[in-house]
Amino acid sequence: MDTMHVQIRQQLEAQLDRLVQPRDQVAVSLVERPERSGQAIRLEVAAIRSALTRLENGTYDECSKCGKPIDPRRLVALPTTTTCLRCSI
Ligand SMILES: [Zn+2]
Repeated sequence: MDTMHVQIRQQLEAQLDRLVQPRDQVAVSLVERPERSGQAIRLEVAAIRSALTRLENGTYDECSKCGKPIDPRRLVALPTTTTCLRCSI
């Protein structure tokens, strides 16, 4: 796993830790970002888990639609994305 993947993985795991916590800490993250509903948080958790799985099995850089590599700058900016820029439009 290269450095970029390691960094993204740490970033995603830290994000997941903040989102998946005992009830009172989830409430804290809602207070910090009140625009986000519980549903939005669940979707974010699912997206992060999916990204971590793709990091594990080596398909993280592959676009889920066309199978081509996703631009690393796009992955850094949007670590949970599953598609390349072209397929996202
Ligand atoms: Zn694509």
